[in-house]
Amino acid sequence: MDSALGPPEQMAAKRDELTPMMAQYHDLCARYDDAIVLFQVGDFYETFCGAAERTARLLEIALTSREDSTGEYPMAGIPIDNAESYIEDLLEAGYRVAVADQVEEPGETSGVVERAVTRVITPGTLTEDELLTGDDNNFVAAVARNGDRLGLALLDVSTGDFYATSATSDESIADEVSRFDPSEAVVGPDAAADPIPEECMVTPFDARAFDRERATEKLTTYFRNPDALLADTAEIRACGALLAYAEYVRGGEHEGERGEDADERVAAVFEGDDEQRLEYITQLTRYDPREYLLLDAVALRSLELFEPRAVHGRDDATLVGVLDETASALGGRKLRDWIRRPLLEPARIEARHDAVAELTGAVQRRERLHDRLREVYDLERLIGRISRERANARDLRSLRDTLAVVPDIREQLADADCERLRDLHGNLDPLADVRELIEDAVVEEPPIEITEGGIIAEGYDEDLDALRGTARDGEQWIEDLEDRERERTGIDSLKVGHNSVHGYYIEVTNPNLESVPDNYQRRQTLKNSERFVTPALKEREDEIVGARQRADEREYDLFCEVRREIAAEVERVQALADALATLDALVSLSTVAAQYDYCRPEILEREGRDGLEIDVEGGRHAVVERTQESFVPNDACLTTDRRLAVITGPNMSGKSTYMRQVAQIVLLAQVGSFVPARSARLTPVDRIFTRVGASDDIAGGRSTFMVEMDELATILREADEHSLVLLDEVGRGTSTADGMAIARAITEHIHDEVGATTLFATHHHPLTELADDLAAAFTLHFEVDEADGDVVFHHEIAPGAASGSYGVEVATAAGVPEPVVDRARELVADATEDEPEAGGEAETRVRARGEMADETDSGPASPATADGGDVPADVAAELRALDLAHLTPVEALTELDRLKRLLEA
Ligand code: ADP
Repeated sequence: MDSALGPPEQMAAKRDELTPMMAQYHDLCARYDDAIVLFQVGDFYETFCGAAERTARLLEIALTSREDSTGEYPMAGIPIDNAESYIEDLLEAGYRVAVADQVEEPGETSGVVERAVTRVITPGTLTEDELLTGDDNNFVAAVARNGDRLGLALLDVSTGDFYATSATSDESIADEVSRFDPSEAVVGPDAAADPIPEECMVTPFDARAFDRERATEKLTTYFRNPDALLADTAEIRACGALLAYAEYVRGGEHEGERGEDADERVAAVFEGDDEQRLEYITQLTRYDPREYLLLDAVALRSLELFEPRAVHGRDDATLVGVLDETASALGGRKLRDWIRRPLLEPARIEARHDAVAELTGAVQRRERLHDRLREVYDLERLIGRISRERANARDLRSLRDTLAVVPDIREQLADADCERLRDLHGNLDPLADVRELIEDAVVEEPPIEITEGGIIAEGYDEDLDALRGTARDGEQWIEDLEDRERERTGIDSLKVGHNSVHGYYIEVTNPNLESVPDNYQRRQTLKNSERFVTPALKEREDEIVGARQRADEREYDLFCEVRREIAAEVERVQALADALATLDALVSLSTVAAQYDYCRPEILEREGRDGLEIDVEGGRHAVVERTQESFVPNDACLTTDRRLAVITGPNMSGKSTYMRQVAQIVLLAQVGSFVPARSARLTPVDRIFTRVGASDDIAGGRSTFMVEMDELATILREADEHSLVLLDEVGRGTSTADGMAIARAITEHIHDEVGATTLFATHHHPLTELADDLAAAFTLHFEVDEADGDVVFHHEIAPGAASGSYGVEVATAAGVPEPVVDRARELVADATEDEPEAGGEAETRVRARGEMADETDSGPASPATADGGDVPADVAAELRALDLAHLTPVEALTELDRLKRLLEA
């Protein structure tokens, strides 16, 4: 067990002897033994013993110690004032954090101050704005099984966004998990096999939470139409468990938990008291992964949706970076959701295109909308805080400020043409009642604290006004007192003052003491003066203090009441938030379309077609075109009859960029965006597969080749005629002969059996022959020029196969030393002489110094040669070693092909 977690050994050994404070710490650590306990001592959160050593190291803070009668304990503390940044580091290091606050004022108690865990902070259940990224969701996932079905639930505890899906294959659930990229996953008893990525914190949770009946009950308490949500047991289990977990972590946060252990806290979640309910979780979106363009983790990465490819080295070099011109956090999250889940249905896609088209044309309206949307606060998180009773008066003002801009935003859509924008116009409810309530109830600039008054506006509540009147009258009476008493006593230097210990007093300097009237009572003697009170002054003072105190209490009650009233409108606020978010995302897409000269893609129906059609003129790579000065547009035309493009050209000529650009254009179109092209027509694609060889890194300890084969296996298994497949330099991780054989076998299989639309890039020239043999295959190439031994890249695609592969020239261009390049030229020349018909594959026919290399695609691949006679010993041995039971047909084919080549060589 991690020594930073659980009760410190040093303390556990003598629990009964510890000082009360240390005993408290020990017990809290025992109760929250999966978290680092931050223990409030005055202005600091302290940690002790193992936890102190760990946090000191992680947070680079001083390790000190605390000594009492029972021993000396290592100690490390962080200032409460900026605890959040430290907490963030602890979360990043993979810890959960339990914040134990003092829940009594030190003055209130004679013994040790009571402390309780007021928040458990885990990566997936954050609600603190400081710890969250505004324009991105932060999901916690739960996975549950029912027979062979796997359910997945995803919840953003800060916004209330809640999704559920299920499938029979672990792989589809894994794909959905990578789509939503949760930072934490809650798992039940049989979790080992759950498809959860490594980066994600895994939180084992009480098995009871995954129980079908309990989960059903939980869902029923949240949603009004549970029947529609209760169709799939695996899904119900995941959703119920996730809600229970969210309550377990967040539910009691405003009160603080006392004296319960983890077990009891879990039990409380199921007791059915509504105390713990997170009221702002009002909607569960169930979806079928097949409703959206499917992108697995590999495709997400290679198409640069959210993560930059290392080669660009720029954080904004992503598709989302290119598309995100949103003005609000709400819009930022909506846009990310659209990119995460591109649509399939033409009508839905075109509804977005219609809106983008309309806004792109209306420059002023679009800019005005953008400006107003910038004034929109994060309504989803705001209403979440209001609902969890965590919001202060400033949050309510922020809500009001947002509501104040809604009428103008709505006005901009008053004469919208397209249905989507007209719908939005209808849905933008300015919530006039809520706005009025806040305006009436809360002052213009309220303080952060909600217990110290100064929040509720004059005229909102008669009782409060009366209390304030009393206090004010009393203050006025006291203000006038000085003049009155001066007149009465004839002491001109008499002063009325106030201090925090003695309250109000009348001060008379020593020379005037004989004029002091009888009803003055002495309170304090100073060097040059005496201070007095009178019964009337005391009475007034009590009145003022009492009235002020009651006013503060009244204000707090009123504030809570207003907050509850607003919380009751949670669904309307969320509906408004959704409308604003959608509008912001559409405005963002229009801004990008206008600014970067995108065109509206034409979406073709899939009906009556047995494959895809993608026709792009003058297409560009959305990300690359932003990162370099000029970009050469290229066409792409793929139909069912010409669905397999074999693309050749030397390294660096633009093959990979071209392929990814075609896929991105398709994806952008299905997101609802315009696309970087002169024109585009396409049928929606079900799924994009990528096998892009350039990521020659070693993932998860497996060799590059294994990763490649793994990805290929997935493609061959799952692709169909509605898939778009990108294959870049397949078979690179093994010898040339092997690689080419595999590439060829796979391509044939995709062509004959799978029927997917495929872009296949290779610098192996002989592979272009494929196009002759396969009916729906054709060749494309990137032309380069040679001038004085240098290559000039045009990045321009053309029909047909490349004339050579220019490997040596690229080496020159890349700065490989002259003698090496010269030697390479020599070798190429040799090889070409030996093989007059060698074509472009010169670099694979390089002769080693002295003798022919083993691994050439035409040279001898094995020391033994065969000529229709005996099978050479090594080939025979390989044949015998083949484990046929564990080969897929394609692997077998590939292997056969390789062995056959060995024989032919
Ligand atoms: P390949 O896959 O053929 O090795 P890449 O697609 O990686 O080549 O392209 C190499 C570089 O050439 C890219 O990083 C990019 O900077 C540039 N490039 C590619 N295509 C274009 C284009 N159409 N216009 C301008 N530059 C391009």
